[in-house]
Amino acid sequence: MKEKRIRISFLLTIILCCFLGQLKVLAKTSIYYTNKATYLTKTATKNYNKKKNIITVIPKNQQVFLIKKINNRFYKVKYKTKIGYISTDSLSQLIQNKTNENNIHNNNSYNKSNSSENATGYTVLLTYHLIKISSDNNSPWQFYRLLSDFEKDINLIKSSGINVVNYRYVIEKLKKGEKLNGPHIIIQFDDGYISDYLYAFPILKKNNLPATFFITSYRASNPGDSFASWTQIKEISDYVNSDGKKLFEIGSHGHTHTSLDKNENESYEEWIARLRKEFEVSKKEIETKLGQATEIFALPFGAGFGRAEIRQIALDTGYEVVRGWKKDNDNFIKYKTDFIRFFPVYNNSNIQDAIDMALGKK
Ligand SMILES: [Zn+2]
Repeated sequence: MKEKRIRISFLLTIILCCFLGQLKVLAKTSIYYTNKATYLTKTATKNYNKKKNIITVIPKNQQVFLIKKINNRFYKVKYKTKIGYISTDSLSQLIQNKTNENNIHNNNSYNKSNSSENATGYTVLLTYHLIKISSDNNSPWQFYRLLSDFEKDINLIKSSGINVVNYRYVIEKLKKGEKLNGPHIIIQFDDGYISDYLYAFPILKKNNLPATFFITSYRASNPGDSFASWTQIKEISDYVNSDGKKLFEIGSHGHTHTSLDKNENESYEEWIARLRKEFEVSKKEIETKLGQATEIFALPFGAGFGRAEIRQIALDTGYEVVRGWKKDNDNFIKYKTDFIRFFPVYNNSNIQDAIDMALGKK
């Protein structure tokens, strides 16, 4: 009896060690997508036709977590819950693209004449926070836009002729396996301020421009003087233009607007539970209060962007987008994108820069 107990506890220790070892590996992984259908195999071997070596088939455009490069022929990866090996040529093209993209970002001399990608333009995420009537010169806080400037921004965007779209439009494209060619702009507002309702909503309605509002569910229930209430957000969400189209989408900016990166003083399990709560509660509240599903999430402070756990929980909870801060790509968690550019709007920003960015001039 005692011997059996020792054997069981020995076995449990082994399982625990394997589990912890796996977590450690995953913490260091990065996300890639397959560029063609490939086999996930038990061993790194050329012998594909040996059926018992194959764990599963990974279709094209699937997200895998790269654990490490084994040799010139194989990568060790995690696909869904399975860990195994795939051939390097099924990932190489995307890794190559990623490297090129990084070079473009790091190289300021990048210009229109030497890039074919540039000719197609970009989808710019134009990101606002608070809209104010007058400025407070003594405050260093820059996350606001004067109402008079916002009106000018909208006029500039309209006269640029650039197509203003929302996340749903992009998701539909990606679902069909297409990318967004040409310049586009997504106008978005973070934090759910009352100015969304008081200023942005009437101006966007008047100009028939779509926009996305990322709101925080706890604040919408306790709006005070600063934030939009559920009643106001519902009015925005329910609005349809003269063509009978909904112009505005509401996304989650978490339940309590806390940083979703792991805190030093919480255990791994506590962090995961906290993540689940922020993703689930905010989604559920938006859907019950507005009678409208949401599949887009903006990380408060952009914290934790790209962490495998956050992406996984977002996927499990039914999200398609986990947007970071100043992050150009990898916001659409099920798809690889290379056409997104992030543009934060501060009190002193020049919107012509965002338009030039969409046109591929910057
Ligand atoms: Zn925020």
